[in-house]
Amino acid sequence: MQVKILGTRGEIRATHPKHLLHSGILIDRKILLDVGEMAFLKYKPQCIFITHLHPDHAFFMSPGGEINPGIPVFAPERSERLKTMHIVTGSTEVEGYRITSIPVIHSIKVKSMGYLVEKRNKRIFYTGDIISIEKRSLKGLTKLDLVITEASFFRRGGLIRKNKQGEIFGHAGVQDLVNLFAKCATKIVFTHFGTWFLKDITSGRRKIKSLARNDVTLDIAIDGATYKI
Ligand SMILES: [Zn+2]
Ligand SMILES: [Zn+2]
Repeated sequence: MQVKILGTRGEIRATHPKHLLHSGILIDRKILLDVGEMAFLKYKPQCIFITHLHPDHAFFMSPGGEINPGIPVFAPERSERLKTMHIVTGSTEVEGYRITSIPVIHSIKVKSMGYLVEKRNKRIFYTGDIISIEKRSLKGLTKLDLVITEASFFRRGGLIRKNKQGEIFGHAGVQDLVNLFAKCATKIVFTHFGTWFLKDITSGRRKIKSLARNDVTLDIAIDGATYKI
């Protein structure tokens, strides 16, 4: 599979020429995971899977936004802004790929999924935004050739808040995500960068690379980066 990371900027004000666009992962020019920019539709994917309905992953959730791409759009829940949306449950077969939705913890207001994309014997997992994954959902995530996950925060614990009911929302830190995925993946690529990274990219890259271990390589995506799996 060829994976193109279209955008690597999180929901932040800071920008950098190499980290300008919001989330979007294009697989073999056919499947688009997240559509953080309307411009991503120009790649003419055959279907779109959205991790969650925050505007940096689903551009049409911004005020006044709407979408009518004429192709199947799969998302964890319905939105008034798109009448033709399919709700993802379990696995979907498209174009010879098997795409499985894995619930992730991120927000209280919107449902959030990660997507496991399989073709032949290759397995890629993309998380969108994430605090963690419940143990029972983690079971399906073994022997991953590539994990693409977020880097909104570096520090251990990330930024996690709690509401009055004790429900949590926010983002894990890069350090937590390395711990989470090193068990099941040989390569982790970071995207969806936060301000901590954009304000000093050289130091940010060094910090992420310092977490590499013998059993897992870590990479830092830029807008348009491609990976062959
Ligand atoms: Zn996000
Ligand atoms: Zn989000």
